[in-house]
Amino acid sequence: MSQTSPNTLHYLKDVLHWGDQDPVDLSRWSNEVRQAPVFLYNLNGIQSRFLQMRKIYGSLHSNAKIFYAMKANSHPEVLQILREQGSGVDVVSAGEIQRALDCGFAPQDMIFSGVGKSKNEIELALQLQIRQINVESLSELQRIAEISSSKKTKATVVLRMNPNIDVKTHPYIATGLNENKFGLEFSLWPEIQNILTKNPQISLRGLSLHLGSQMTDLSGLREALRLTKNFFLSLQKNLLKVNRFDVGGGLGIFYEKQDFAKEEELLGQYAQIIREELPELLSQPDFELQTEPGRWLVGHSGILLMEVEYIKETTHKNFLIVNAGMHNVLRPALYQAYHSIFPLRQHPDRSAKVYDIVGPICESSDFLAKSRSIPECFEGEILILADVGAYGFSMASNYNLQVAPYEICLK
Ligand SMILES: *Cc1c(COP(=O)(O)O)cnc(C)c1O
Repeated sequence: MSQTSPNTLHYLKDVLHWGDQDPVDLSRWSNEVRQAPVFLYNLNGIQSRFLQMRKIYGSLHSNAKIFYAMKANSHPEVLQILREQGSGVDVVSAGEIQRALDCGFAPQDMIFSGVGKSKNEIELALQLQIRQINVESLSELQRIAEISSSKKTKATVVLRMNPNIDVKTHPYIATGLNENKFGLEFSLWPEIQNILTKNPQISLRGLSLHLGSQMTDLSGLREALRLTKNFFLSLQKNLLKVNRFDVGGGLGIFYEKQDFAKEEELLGQYAQIIREELPELLSQPDFELQTEPGRWLVGHSGILLMEVEYIKETTHKNFLIVNAGMHNVLRPALYQAYHSIFPLRQHPDRSAKVYDIVGPICESSDFLAKSRSIPECFEGEILILADVGAYGFSMASNYNLQVAPYEICLK
């Protein structure tokens, strides 16, 4: 089955192009990449993923809303295109709140997540009256109580639950286990209730979950939803007016081989699990279903153009030393993540060769790929690192004071 997508990478006349309709010739940035690595973002690709996802969630409930997790990619034009399509944002710091405001998001369209919200950040969130603070600990709830009481403001909170479920992703991005720092255990309810009773200015609106990132096996999700739903229903039985269920983000994408049909299928499965596990909630007319995707929306819509500076062949390895590295894309160094690599120009008669593709940073963990078989390369050639739209530039650093990359948006 052939599938069309603005995110497809393919060769036309031996030059790599991006997108099926009006494919973009990636040799256009050959001059820029000699100065610095170039991140390209495909805004059409992001829009089409958002619309795909909205359609699926819309079929679950009329009050379904997507809150883009902007830590995945907080480029202003990315935020603006998503806002124009009706997205809200999931923010994790005052910096992200400010960026979202600058890009036109209303406080009512912001969810504030994260385990370490400072006093200043909570004050800001309360002063703006953002939609909800997702509470991650008893101490945080207590802090919200104190600040809202002293400032005489209302506080709208949702409890992020930690259902102790293993979702089979990389241990650094699993978040739904009791050993992780995230969320509240169900058994804490008496203490939570105690704080809420003493602080009527706090309104508890619902529950949230976020089990981990890059999930491609959804069996853990089902169990987590069931446990959390039961807790939600028990709150309703106790006459609490909870009506929001935030299923979090975490839906994975396929990095090894682009397969958009399979990803759509995974999204469909995700929705089907929600449909099957939350029927008592989905049938309530004032129910609000919320989700916080990051990677699924933007991951494929970013690529990095880089230049081969040196080829270094040692007795053990062949290194391609490129002008991009862990300071641009940290995921390979941090979680041994895989990103596909393509030469800008295809030469049909080149044979394959195995390389470690490494950057200029003075660390042995500075690699973009290890033992990767790609067409034999030459110095000065341009390579493309695929699928860096999520957790690419947003995790970048200025380590070694390397030159800052370009970030360019394609409309
Ligand atoms: C990071 C994060 C998300 C988004 O995760 P993705 O894997 O990018 O979908 C959503 N919610 C919370 C609380 C997060 O920390």
